[in-house]
Amino acid sequence: MKTTRHGANLIQLTKWPVAFPMNCYLVLEEDGLTLVDSTMSSPADDVAALVKQLGKELRRLALTHAHGDHVGGVAGVRQRFPDVEVSIGERDAPILAGDKALLPNEPQTEVRGYFVKVDWKPDRLLKPGDRVGSLEVIASPGHTPGHIAFLDIRDRALIAGDAFQTRAGIAVSGVLRPLFPFPAMATWNKQTALASAVALRALGPSLLAVGHGDALSEPGAAMDQAIETARRAFR
Ligand SMILES: [Zn+2]
Repeated sequence: MKTTRHGANLIQLTKWPVAFPMNCYLVLEEDGLTLVDSTMSSPADDVAALVKQLGKELRRLALTHAHGDHVGGVAGVRQRFPDVEVSIGERDAPILAGDKALLPNEPQTEVRGYFVKVDWKPDRLLKPGDRVGSLEVIASPGHTPGHIAFLDIRDRALIAGDAFQTRAGIAVSGVLRPLFPFPAMATWNKQTALASAVALRALGPSLLAVGHGDALSEPGAAMDQAIETARRAFR
């Protein structure tokens, strides 16, 4: 996997950077490392090499949402690091387990995208405002009903999952980029995704790190532009 360092606390790991980029992230903490997302297949070899290089244990694995290109690698990571605490947003937990039924108060659009059958259960279910190490859990539904993002409270780096993509141009989840249309095709509800994009922008992130594409530093203006484009596209 391709590795890219962002500041003091974040390492981006990219699977298939040219053909179909999928990112996961290692967050450096005092007590060890947190892995955010896991791509489609196990990143355990690359994570193990970085664990050795950094001299820090892998403690936690936190998931932005239940799609297969984010959770597919979890089994391999758990096998290599049996003590790791696996967490996901509480609303995406049933979806991860195969139940795509919507709640009465949710927009009744179909849950879409690529799912894999998993033989593990999350150890911890996350709610907005919870903390995973230095990461604050931020509600960002839209791509899936229970999608969450993670804001590093030390430096305001935002790991936004698929709430935004940057591959083929920055876009809010649901805005189709013809050269990389997959996140838009997998989006559950566009208006909800747009509202989440606005909320994430309002956090004033110093870095925007996403599931698919390069990270952007000082992303405010680019996020504003993506939000404007989404407003027009979803009208
Ligand atoms: Zn994705």
